[in-house]
Amino acid sequence: MKQFEFITRYDNFESRRQGRTRYQVLSRQKDVKKILINGAALIITVDENDKLKVLKNKSLLIVNGVISEIFNFNGKKIKGVDLVYNAYEREGMVVTPGFINGHAHPPMYLLRSSMSLDKGSMAEQLAKMAQFEKNMNFEDFVIGAIGDFTEEQKNGITTTFSHYSIFNAVEEAARITHHNVINAISAVSNSHPENNVAMAEKILKNSKKYYTIPAIAIHYIHKASPQQLMQIKGLIKKYKVLFTMHAAETEGFVAECVKKYGNRTAFALDKLGLLNSNVVLSHSVHFTDEEIKLVKKRKAGIIHLPTSNKIHKSGEFKYPKFYTEGAVNQIALGTDSVISKNSLDLLSEALQTRIMHHDKKIVFYEDLFKMLTSNAARILKLGKVGKILPGHRADLSIWKLNDRGFIPYNEKKPLSLVGNMITHGGSFIRDLMINGEFVISNRAHNFINETALLNQLQNSHMELRRRMGKS
Ligand SMILES: [Zn+2]
Repeated sequence: MKQFEFITRYDNFESRRQGRTRYQVLSRQKDVKKILINGAALIITVDENDKLKVLKNKSLLIVNGVISEIFNFNGKKIKGVDLVYNAYEREGMVVTPGFINGHAHPPMYLLRSSMSLDKGSMAEQLAKMAQFEKNMNFEDFVIGAIGDFTEEQKNGITTTFSHYSIFNAVEEAARITHHNVINAISAVSNSHPENNVAMAEKILKNSKKYYTIPAIAIHYIHKASPQQLMQIKGLIKKYKVLFTMHAAETEGFVAECVKKYGNRTAFALDKLGLLNSNVVLSHSVHFTDEEIKLVKKRKAGIIHLPTSNKIHKSGEFKYPKFYTEGAVNQIALGTDSVISKNSLDLLSEALQTRIMHHDKKIVFYEDLFKMLTSNAARILKLGKVGKILPGHRADLSIWKLNDRGFIPYNEKKPLSLVGNMITHGGSFIRDLMINGEFVISNRAHNFINETALLNQLQNSHMELRRRMGKS
């Protein structure tokens, strides 16, 4: 869309890259199809058997957006490479799969300063948030989502499951930032009551024409009618799409569900035919042991959001029960919006997960790393994504090894790197690849002018406040 061009970069980033030592561009920018990540000091990934591995001194060959080979540094001569990324000099780089965010409301990024640090009660804050959202225009939604995705990218996130009521704004922001997005449109929305199931179907019908992958959402089960839920069930079956909602976030919402559907959330969903592997339940705080067993059996995805749950005083997710039921591989993590977590980062969310549960059950670093990568890819049905293996999509986060997020670590037990990475609580990546394309190089975004973006976010935020007559 023309109206957002002021924010996209126009300088020649091919020449920017050539000026930096890690990039050696051997063909024209637009012809870059074959990329060699040469000599990564360490690769941290989950392998084909779902085991966490750390590989030393390996090179990666990427062809047309897919990892085609992994081999020993300097162990092979590769012909016809368009771009070489030097990952070995100056202590070298650590490569991980791009992280996958299981739950976000990207356009709300514009509201960062408005809520979570206020003195008011949660109910007052949520009411205020609804007021803000009501006054946001299309451009606000897009700018907010661009702010959200680019911050996630800096934190190593390459795919986001967005849950929001304005499909086109999230679509536009994903296209502009080159971010992978599953774009779940709220068919039953708190902030946009005009949304409905027919509108969601119109999008699903045309899914091929979008940059994002369409999906369906509802805010809460108790806000949807039985008829709407039946229609949604039909759409899931017909279009084979993901369906997501805030599930059992508080006991109050569970009580509303019991009142309307005669059962607690997981049982109610099951009875409606809405508990299966196409269903992704965010929060899932107030599940009974029986509900957790059922969720495990039906293979529904669970998005754990400990920071949000703490900030909103929602309660404590029953991680120990998920663990004893063998359902940990159904759990991924999410950021929620900036109303619920101040930094859109999953490493700090992994740390928060560990801290929230450690007096009852230690959450192993290996399991946390899977929640950010392979578990999330499985739950979100992303196919060959979330692991660094041949045939997998080249979504890669590249981190400097000589960094406080890693150093010092036990070189004889390189898995200790994962603990360091998580307990450090987040650091920015140096380079980021999405679908085989460098989106961030040398810590700068290749498609967004960050200064222009921050200026616009600030202006749009103050403009929104002016429109609402607030100081
Ligand atoms: Zn949410």
